[in-house]
Amino acid sequence: MAKRYRVKCPVCGEVINLPGSGPCTKCGTPISVDQPCSIELYRMGNMMGAATGFGLYVNEVPYGAIANRESLILPLPYGSYKLHVVCGMNRKCNDPVVNLTPEDPHVCMKVHMKMGFIQNTFLLERVDPSTMPQN
Ligand SMILES: [Zn+2]
Repeated sequence: MAKRYRVKCPVCGEVINLPGSGPCTKCGTPISVDQPCSIELYRMGNMMGAATGFGLYVNEVPYGAIANRESLILPLPYGSYKLHVVCGMNRKCNDPVVNLTPEDPHVCMKVHMKMGFIQNTFLLERVDPSTMPQN
């Protein structure tokens, strides 16, 4: 599976997947995935909710869903980004804040779901890029 970029159209707000820079699939606005920074996310495979997409939020803004064992690249400008993942009633998440700076522009994160007694908790943890699945 090729790498996929997850972008939010700055004009119409549609969240889309692109294989590279190209027009928004909804309104045709040219979108560049060539940003100085990126966050790469990989959702660890798990049985629970395997068929369900986890809702992804960046700075409280909905950013689509991430499927089981899916990896996505979010091209982003420099800045500080709070990541949040939800699934159905499970809204507990460790909400990591990622600071993308010239010294640290590319961050890889793995998404886990930790089973809980009342509800499950999502954990996003930063990992070494070499541990990310290579497509
Ligand atoms: Zn658009």
